Amino acid sequence: MSTDQVSTDPVSAGSALDERLQAFVGQSTGPPLQAPDPVNQPMIRHWVEATGDYNPVYVDDAAAREAGFAGVIAPPTMLQAWIMRGLRLSQQSDSARARGQLDGASPTDQLMAMLDEAGFTSVVATNCDQHYVRPLVPGDLLKCTSVIDAVSPEKATGLGTGHFLTTRIEYTDQNDEPVATMKFRILKFKPRPAAPASSAADSTAPAERPKRPRPALTQDNRFFFDGAKEHKLLIQRCSVCGTLRHPPRPSCAHCRSFEWDTLTASGRGTVYSFVVNHYPQVPAFDYPLVVALVELEEGTRLVANVAGIAPGEVAIGMPVVAGFEAFDDDLTLPVFHPDPGAAATDETRRS
Ligand SMILES: [Zn+2]
Repeated sequence: MSTDQVSTDPVSAGSALDERLQAFVGQSTGPPLQAPDPVNQPMIRHWVEATGDYNPVYVDDAAAREAGFAGVIAPPTMLQAWIMRGLRLSQQSDSARARGQLDGASPTDQLMAMLDEAGFTSVVATNCDQHYVRPLVPGDLLKCTSVIDAVSPEKATGLGTGHFLTTRIEYTDQNDEPVATMKFRILKFKPRPAAPASSAADSTAPAERPKRPRPALTQDNRFFFDGAKEHKLLIQRCSVCGTLRHPPRPSCAHCRSFEWDTLTASGRGTVYSFVVNHYPQVPAFDYPLVVALVELEEGTRLVANVAGIAPGEVAIGMPVVAGFEAFDDDLTLPVFHPDPGAAATDETRRS
């Protein structure tokens, strides 16, 4: 954080604002929040259903005891769920801020309003780091306190210039013992005006196009991107029970094995769901951008772009086939196109 402060540009017009922003660092974001309900099995069960993480230690006392716990434990990543204030209260505070009603507003609300006023009107969450002291168990009643941990000087990012705001949240139990901490960072930024679609083509000296964002490569997912470079669509497969999984992760959700290899997919699939993204426009991408969840015929799904078709003609259930596009020397990704083979099959079926 001290390096951020050193890099503040003293001559920038923003330095007065920076000073006002820095005054928020260290301030509590408001009174402690009390969990509305204790940690409980019904909420855990819904979470398990929603995320598909069927680790038995979350729902089965015997399995939890076998794993060395006293009974079922809550999934650690549910941490925030226990404190959430609910839709109605969130909407009330959002609309109060939108109306400029800041009487009794928390330091966070005041900070957000100050940034809104300076033109930094958009928000995107960037990082969330959680540290767990112990597993949460049914009956635990959480409380959390949060502090504005850091406000960065103005930074240029792919989305526009903005300030990174970090909040540090401490979670304690019914005995005021710490159970977890979380650092949550957002970027509050000035959205860039959308460029006219023809501007790049008209420009006499086009700037070099920025590269697509790099994937965060890990030992678990590197094979996927290496495969794409060789124009292979690889799916991670459990070596013990054969279950396929995507996105890549360390262990099998079915049998818990850490052993895995890969299967080369046929590339054929169907559009399971999709969105057509118009805005915000990041320079490395072409818009409108079709982002689809493609269900491969092997059964796993992956997120990828769909090209070779007008965005308005993409439809759920549409047969697609993977091609590969090298966006630069380091990044090749599967891009799906309408599958002419599947269309012919449909014609045959109809006739
Ligand atoms: Zn398995």
